[in-house]
Amino acid sequence: MLKKYLSNVNNKQSATCNRLNLKFINDYSELESTFHDSYHNKFYLHIRMCHLYSIFFFNIYSLFFFFLFPDLHERYNIISLGIISPIFLTGFFLSFFNFYKKTYQYFAVFYILLTGTGIIFAMPTPPDNDIWLYIIGLITCYIFGYTYIHAYFLSASIAGWMLLVIYVLTVSFLNRLSPSLIISSTLPLVMTNVLGMLVSYNLERAARQDFILQWRLTREEEKLADVNIKLSKANEHLLHLSFYDELTQIANRRQFDERLHSDYYRCARYKLPLTLVMLDIDHFKLFNDRYGHQEGDKYLKEVAQIIDKNSKRSTDLATRYGGEEFAIILYNSDTDHAMHICQRIQRDLKKLFIPDKTSSSKNNVTLSMGIACDYPSSDGSSDTILKAADEALYKAKNTGRDRIVIAGNKREK
Ligand code: GH3
Ligand code: MG
Ligand code: MG
Repeated sequence: MLKKYLSNVNNKQSATCNRLNLKFINDYSELESTFHDSYHNKFYLHIRMCHLYSIFFFNIYSLFFFFLFPDLHERYNIISLGIISPIFLTGFFLSFFNFYKKTYQYFAVFYILLTGTGIIFAMPTPPDNDIWLYIIGLITCYIFGYTYIHAYFLSASIAGWMLLVIYVLTVSFLNRLSPSLIISSTLPLVMTNVLGMLVSYNLERAARQDFILQWRLTREEEKLADVNIKLSKANEHLLHLSFYDELTQIANRRQFDERLHSDYYRCARYKLPLTLVMLDIDHFKLFNDRYGHQEGDKYLKEVAQIIDKNSKRSTDLATRYGGEEFAIILYNSDTDHAMHICQRIQRDLKKLFIPDKTSSSKNNVTLSMGIACDYPSSDGSSDTILKAADEALYKAKNTGRDRIVIAGNKREK
């Protein structure tokens, strides 16, 4: 199982890169420049410091030669101090400019060739046994070039093999080494080159795979964040649906039941009055019959908005009780306050435009309202006030509709 999974992952990863030059392929080809930027950003400080390390290593040899064999290695000291050090110092300063990061790989090829050629041309002519000192210098240069300076596999390989050609040509035609010495000195360089290529290939491949994994992880995290946003929106919507009426967008019956219950006992605890208003649209069935249910829905929404708008205090709650019936819970309110609200509703209702196609009357739909007020007691129940408001509403209906009736009161309007 694990084996199958690992081989799957490996296949997926290798399918992202060209096996020869390691460039991204297929769907990933457009990631090349992103990888380039991220790779160089990640190692940039190290790359910058490499310029100084190179100067340091070159001049360590210079010092050594200067004090021990000043005449023998004069050419090395000139090349090191006069050419290599100033060029690397310039590179170090250039690394503070933006273009350098983008073009660094070209510089990397140049640096490998520069240091290698510097070592080759520093060899004394005719060479003596010291040639091995220079071969070790060249091997160090290869190790640096293939691994430490973060050159790409392709850049480092091109520079590595070019350097080898320069070496063979120089020792054959300029230094005129014996064929046996050419072969014996070239062989370790070839081996180092091949090994360097292997190491560099694996380093870059690992960096690219790591990048792709990170990239996939980020995509997955983005997708997950997206799903989370959608989920929390859906939850919000569900929460809204469970507490608000979908048609009228005011509080629904469920919120009414919960609030009436909690307000009833809160008022009982603090000995405060609780007032309940029940409202019912008059002859709404006729309205529907005349204008159709769609128009009825529209009107229902507008009536709900009027009721809601007039329940102004933060403790007032306007709800759709069901069908064309509404209810307002007024915490810590008396009947005067409730009457005031009902009258304002009546006034706003009169301004409501009804698309009357069959009748000349514009305000043929009205509300009947029943108000009940009570000082709740902790051993009582909210059903009492509900029943009283309902009875007051029915009284309003039975006595001609379009009026406000207060429970247990003769006062009507
Ligand atoms: P009354 O004055 O006695 O209250 O008469 P009414 O016609 O308003 O009362 P009735 O109980 O006979 O009918 C209620 C009507 O309300 C019937 C129904 O079609 C309408 N109604 C209830 N809910 C909705 C709704 O969501 N949309 C629409 N368009 N009509 C509704
Ligand atoms: Mg009605
Ligand atoms: Mg009704």
